Amino acid sequence: MFWADKIALDTETTQTIIVNDSKTPSGRVHVGSLRGVVIHDVIYRALKHANKNVKFIYGVDDYDALDTVPHYLDQEKFAPYLGFPLCNVPSPEDNAPDYAKFFMGEFLEVFNYLGIQPEIYYLRDKYRSGAMNQYIDTFLKNAHLVREAYKQVSKSDRPSDWLPFHPICENCGKIAPTVTTDYNGKEVFYTCKPNATSYVKGCGHSGWVSPFDGHGKLPWKVEWVAKWDLVGVNIEMAGKDHSQKGGSRDVANSICRKVLQKEPPFHSPYEFILVNGTKMSSSKGVGSSAKEIAALLPPELLRFLMLRTPPKTVINFSPNYETITRLFRDYDTLITKSETPDLEEKDKAPLIYSQLETESNQISTYQAFDISTLISLLQVPHLDIEAEIIKRSPKTLTEFDWQIVRQRINVAQKWLQDYADEEEKLVLYLDRIPDRAQEITEPQKIYFRKLIQNLEAITDWEGESLQNLIFATTKQVEISQKEAFQAIYFAFLGKEKGPKAGSLFSYLDKSFVLKRLNEVL
Ligand SMILES: [Zn+2]
Repeated sequence: MFWADKIALDTETTQTIIVNDSKTPSGRVHVGSLRGVVIHDVIYRALKHANKNVKFIYGVDDYDALDTVPHYLDQEKFAPYLGFPLCNVPSPEDNAPDYAKFFMGEFLEVFNYLGIQPEIYYLRDKYRSGAMNQYIDTFLKNAHLVREAYKQVSKSDRPSDWLPFHPICENCGKIAPTVTTDYNGKEVFYTCKPNATSYVKGCGHSGWVSPFDGHGKLPWKVEWVAKWDLVGVNIEMAGKDHSQKGGSRDVANSICRKVLQKEPPFHSPYEFILVNGTKMSSSKGVGSSAKEIAALLPPELLRFLMLRTPPKTVINFSPNYETITRLFRDYDTLITKSETPDLEEKDKAPLIYSQLETESNQISTYQAFDISTLISLLQVPHLDIEAEIIKRSPKTLTEFDWQIVRQRINVAQKWLQDYADEEEKLVLYLDRIPDRAQEITEPQKIYFRKLIQNLEAITDWEGESLQNLIFATTKQVEISQKEAFQAIYFAFLGKEKGPKAGSLFSYLDKSFVLKRLNEVL
């Protein structure tokens, strides 16, 4: 059974089930952050399919401090706000009231694109409205239990006068460097310490202030527990980084049991998405932000990227030719199978949950057109692409097929423009022979002579037949396939490698191909 359907089956309650996820809007969101979002959305959908009452909510942790100025922002403008709550930092652009809402706004556009619609809540509202007051009071009064949880679970020692609260400094506005050391039931005593964090210095101010109604925040592991109870979370997964033994989730679970004397929500960890083999932090994700990848991939494909791999397995993603074309090919294979009994049960659920949600839960099938062929066709000059598509499709394309094909043409164009590197581009030498054609050897020329004879005789100018012919000719003149293909690429592309040679010929006129081979000889 699919993992999300299993969670849905195992969740037994007559009450409304709350699925919760959250994010600190500290900058542009990396595509890796979408994994958690899609996972929670799918759990929510699985519970709905199982006819359970369920609500999906999403918390924005905007009382967290700005701890680094992302490289794509004006350093001078934002550096003075290091240590401020994100909701008190100005927006990088005029279209949002503050920093937190600006970056969350970008992320929510991607949610919308992916058909994900949780109820959004902002921590600033929970603090300022007083909704967190009772938890602040409880944790301050039970600070010894919080310290005990930190020590027992994560082996981290807090001084005996450490209290779990960070007021916003009344003098400098920073929340990160404030340390609370006393509580009288109404006010806390704090110091804005010069050396409390590594990235920002406190101003040295100290004094008594009310901890309630938005004057400050709980440390995040404690805040996590308060949130669970406040909004009544039943299910919340966390990335592997938070889920290690003795990690933040374990600490939060322990605080929940010790102080609130309640069981924490259901939890299961999920793995990272590695981009180009490294775990990129959200502050460095140039070219692979959630927003940028959403601008490249259709929503179903982006969901499929997240869902075809089980949550506990790492996803390796890189927007290169190999990965992008394979993603589309794998998806198309399943779509084609979905009309037949060949679709295996293990593939069916990821395919269904990749669709944007509809009442009927239907998979929209279509006649697939290979994206790698589109990428090649788009690079052939003076080509009527729609005519080529019609010629190459076995059946007449329906209006919906065309919709999908046009969407893919856009993907292919965008990929070529923004992601393809020079090696991946197909540069055809139409007007002149590439310089590297001089590297063609005598045995390769013998191959070309035979190939010209065979090509002249062929009646079926089509990718697969041409590919077979190109292969068969190597046998006739005893040349290695590698050498034969290399000669073709030298003659037409001026480089050693290229797409399937049969496909390459099929994009070109027969007369042009013959002319070029003769010219090289
Ligand atoms: Zn201060």
